[in-house]
Amino acid sequence: MVSFYPGPSRVHDEVPRWTAEAAKKGILSMNHRSMEFMHLAEDTVLRLRQKLNVPRTYTVFFVSSATECWEIIAQSFVQRRSVHCYNGAFGEKWYQYTNKLRPGAQALRFNLQQPLDVEDLVLDRDDVLCITQNETSNGSSVAPSTLHAIRTKYRAPLIAVDATSSMAGIELNFTKADLWFASVQKCFGLPAGLALLICSPRSLERAEAIGERDHYNSVLFMREMMRSWQTTHTPNVLGIYLLNRALHKMRVIAETGAITKERAKAWFNFVESLPALQPLIANKNVRSSTVITLSCETTYLEKLKAAAKRKGFLLGNGYGEYKTTTLRIANFPVITDREINSLKRFLKGFKA
Ligand SMILES: *Cc1c(COP(=O)(O)O)cnc(C)c1O
Repeated sequence: MVSFYPGPSRVHDEVPRWTAEAAKKGILSMNHRSMEFMHLAEDTVLRLRQKLNVPRTYTVFFVSSATECWEIIAQSFVQRRSVHCYNGAFGEKWYQYTNKLRPGAQALRFNLQQPLDVEDLVLDRDDVLCITQNETSNGSSVAPSTLHAIRTKYRAPLIAVDATSSMAGIELNFTKADLWFASVQKCFGLPAGLALLICSPRSLERAEAIGERDHYNSVLFMREMMRSWQTTHTPNVLGIYLLNRALHKMRVIAETGAITKERAKAWFNFVESLPALQPLIANKNVRSSTVITLSCETTYLEKLKAAAKRKGFLLGNGYGEYKTTTLRIANFPVITDREINSLKRFLKGFKA
């Protein structure tokens, strides 16, 4: 079965080999206070900088999920108010999680067919603006030019970006925001249970001014530990090892991102030849390159998914309000051209 699910998604072919190697080397029971672990953590952060262009001045933290990042940001970085711009289910969940911890969070919904309009934003100096760069539920995305425009207009507020289904798939300009996060079971092509939280120097200054120290994952505690390449709790050492191996093998993100964009373009061109399927996001400027979301009739969709499964393709269900009217196809780096071509052949030949 080839998984085109947009997370948890198809993993690197080498994951079984890397895992066996980890067992042999004693990584599975490695002490997280040992020199070996500290070297592993340090090297992994170094590779993230090299391969994904994470700025030297930004601090990387190993955490367990993107959901945890929503909570860490609410706890450690929101002093008074967060403002959430979203058009889909993940952005909405982020808003809801934050509002429970820091009541008074603001929701600013925008149309999924339109770019986020910077004119609609009114931010105070101490706000945290929360943006879902790639909305995995509907296949829309926030363009780099939008992030750039927000950063240009608003220097003081912190900008937090959920890049869970785009980091390691497309090139991100980390300098345009303060807090970035992603879990590894999407574009990284790795098993779930590990996420990265990447923080700008000024975001950590803000955290220091807030001084929140009530949680094991308060960012101030995490920073203290990370100074010696450690974590506040026993982390997912195997996950970090697999990430390290994957990063060593990975191309630089400029190359990967260009391939992802080309493949996305090819997907949408191909879909034009299929009368039963249409891109959910009509506006090309806000279409995701990593999560191809297609709409179709519900009965057609059911037959298509069942037939795909018999042929060995796992297609992504629609999500939330689009559950029965869309399908999602992951366009993640570890999926091979051969797999994409065979799925296209199947879609071309399918008759409901
Ligand atoms: C998958 C996903 C999440 C949740 O990730 P977890 O690692 O399961 O917490 C959050 N945001 C977006 C945009 C996602 O795609």
